[in-house]
Amino acid sequence: MGSINVKSQKVEVRSTAKGQELYRRAKKRIPGGTQLLSKRPEMFLPEQWPSYFSTARGVEVTDVDGNTYIDMSMMAIGACVLGYADPDVDRAVKAAIDAGSVSTLNAPEEVELADLLCELHPWADMARFARSGGEAMMMAVRIARAHTRRDTVAFSGYHGWCDWYLAANLGDERALDGQLMPGLDPAGVPRGLKGTALPFHYNRLDELTAIVDARRGDLGAIVMEPQRGDAPAVGFLEAVRDIATEIGAVLIFDEVTTGFRVTDGGIHTLLGVNPDIAVFAKSMANGYAMAAVIGRAAVMEAAQSTFISSTNWTERIGTVAALATIRKFRRERVAEHLKTIGNLTFDGWKRAAEKTGLKLHTEGLPSLTHFDFEHSDEPTLTTLFTQDMLERGYLAYSQFKPSFAHQPAHVAAYMKAVEATFTMIAEAVRAGDYASRLKGPCARRGFYRLTS
Ligand code: PLP
Repeated sequence: MGSINVKSQKVEVRSTAKGQELYRRAKKRIPGGTQLLSKRPEMFLPEQWPSYFSTARGVEVTDVDGNTYIDMSMMAIGACVLGYADPDVDRAVKAAIDAGSVSTLNAPEEVELADLLCELHPWADMARFARSGGEAMMMAVRIARAHTRRDTVAFSGYHGWCDWYLAANLGDERALDGQLMPGLDPAGVPRGLKGTALPFHYNRLDELTAIVDARRGDLGAIVMEPQRGDAPAVGFLEAVRDIATEIGAVLIFDEVTTGFRVTDGGIHTLLGVNPDIAVFAKSMANGYAMAAVIGRAAVMEAAQSTFISSTNWTERIGTVAALATIRKFRRERVAEHLKTIGNLTFDGWKRAAEKTGLKLHTEGLPSLTHFDFEHSDEPTLTTLFTQDMLERGYLAYSQFKPSFAHQPAHVAAYMKAVEATFTMIAEAVRAGDYASRLKGPCARRGFYRLTS
């Protein structure tokens, strides 16, 4: 096991008092408390989740109260695919800082990164860069609209916080339900955008065809993740590709979450269907701010017919972090490692459920796994899971995004803890007293307004 730090026993009762106090202050100063919905403590364990970190290395996170946890949850919501503070990436970043991270002139590494992304995706000829997934998706949609001179976008899945996307909820406030993050409120999105973003569900070609029939002449882009949970039905992606080509719409694959996780680049390279544009962020730079829009020259050139430009897109840190991350990802065959760790976890959850008599639904790609308790009051059981695992020294949730820093020994120790926690939850289900075992409120999912 070497120096790997693994835990399965309950550790001494922790205080997260400083973290709780800081978050109470944050909610008064920062609308919504955090910058990312998925980092709200209420999503995991209200009034108990440590909330803030002081250091993060490998798979270990130390909170502001001085407690150290093993992260078996989401690894910075999928951004840290190599693990926290990866030494190779950080060395490249520190060298960039020492050399000056920005100047009046451009960073030459931009050209290197554009070349590398096009080498990994030979159908693509050009790249532009941004610093977050949502803004890169906004850029991709702008390029598509500029190229086609058409306004309407058909989409499936979640694609960020921007107006083009939330416009879907102007027409029908439930339009985004079933698209990964239900209930998003489009307040502040101009009502004039109503009808410009039309949702279809993944694998529902009939829904896309209905949109095409109604809006053929005005459909500028089809936006989707090539795969997320379910595998594509036979012929589905090919049919979407054919429709886009036939009507002259730009096919945009959102690889913000799937990119550099399942293979060296976009998951679409394994699925055999090429888009006109693909978008990367999150794991491409191991948590440093970076995003890329790559595409066919004929489409990407439209970026010059409109105005797409930002000062902070020219800094060097994100670019060198991406180069170092992608090179390490390839060199160390990280995708294979993530699959191994993901499968071990997946199998472990199933075994622990069988042993303890819990009904568990597991699904997802090995590198993007999650489970659901198939019992009534599932949110309470998941909150109980997070609470008990936290006391055992884990940041744990119903999702797990493995990293290169996770070793089989981490999974083995985590599984001992999971088994103990599942045993307690199974007892609670049998006794019907699970709600009273929570030491704070139940976790809340999705978008909602924080009122206190
Ligand atoms: N697209 C997909 C598929 C995502 O999963 C996300 C974030 O979770 C985004 C876009 C938005 O990316 P960001 O949070 O970097 O703005």
